[in-house]
Amino acid sequence: MKKDRIVHQVVIIGSGPAGHTAALYAARATLKPLVFKGSAPNLPGGQLMLTSDVENYPGFPDGLLGPALMEKFEAQAVRFGAEMREENIVKVNFANRPFIVVTENGEEVFSKTVIIATGANAKLLGIAKEKELMASGAGVSACATCDGAFYKNVDVAVVGGGDTAMEEALFLTRYANFVTVIHRREEFRASKIMVERAQKNPKIKWQLNKVVDSLIVEKKPPRNQEALVGLMIKDANSDVLTTLSVDGLFVAIGHQPNTELFTGILPLDAKGYITTKNQSAKTDIPGVFACGDVQDSVYRQAVTAAGSGCMAAIDAERYLEHLG
Ligand code: NDP
Repeated sequence: MKKDRIVHQVVIIGSGPAGHTAALYAARATLKPLVFKGSAPNLPGGQLMLTSDVENYPGFPDGLLGPALMEKFEAQAVRFGAEMREENIVKVNFANRPFIVVTENGEEVFSKTVIIATGANAKLLGIAKEKELMASGAGVSACATCDGAFYKNVDVAVVGGGDTAMEEALFLTRYANFVTVIHRREEFRASKIMVERAQKNPKIKWQLNKVVDSLIVEKKPPRNQEALVGLMIKDANSDVLTTLSVDGLFVAIGHQPNTELFTGILPLDAKGYITTKNQSAKTDIPGVFACGDVQDSVYRQAVTAAGSGCMAAIDAERYLEHLG
């Protein structure tokens, strides 16, 4: 006899703050969400798994580690009945109903609604120790808003020539002694007004036509762990190497939303982010919702991602109610 196929109410793809918050709300609404957390090379738990101290998530006045925060997110969703699977989704079919998502093991999973929370990744330079120092909070970061306050009264550098780099450099002048912007060209991708604002700031120095060749690392107190103490910078024209002493490097060379699965299926904006309808998590396909960094190129914070995960679950719940 043919086994009846299970049709889920809500399938969630992604397990950062947006995915887990959507799971929590959907679970409390008794929708028994099934969360595909992802597995390598994806990062279950999202970008916070690559950070150390998180001091700007409300409700934790003493701060906590990024991975610890994500454990709490997950535990809270599981407590109300969310089911977690550590698998990647490799294909989606939103053309028919119920929707189908296909796991990396080839299993087809059916659902009336799908919440996409696959996030975005900061682009990195791809040099030795970059990821390790980022994970241990020892001198490399991709978010000045998150980590700038750890660099009081020291010198830092920002790499990039876009609006994010200018914004981060300006922001970092609140804490750091000096901020050096390192950019691989002389022309900036950033808007003129942002460049001018940065150029007027006496705490910002410039290294143009330069690329970061490597990180200089030493064991530093109090934890006697490897931390950034400087950069080897290479001139893009002459290849001449120089050193720059800094305690922090902020990589601001853009973000990549994780939307490959949805290309040609859902409308994406010019930067590849999923577009959602005015102040909601609704995509162009009724029953498919998007939340978190995969649809937000502007704020990119854990708390805003969590907020939009809540919106996605409420939108999904209302959609299901409407279906009857
Ligand atoms: P962008 O893609 O605009 O800029 C990325 C920058 O990083 C470019 O200058 C690029 O250099 C450089 N870069 C890329 N890859 C490398 C690499 N491997 N090594 C060294 N340098 C590299 O990204 P942003 O994050 O700055 O901005 C994204 C979007 O968000 C933009 O549309 C921006 O306008 C917007 N934004 C707006 C803000 C505002 O209005 N307040 C604030 C922040 C962002 P190159 O130019 O040579 O390619």
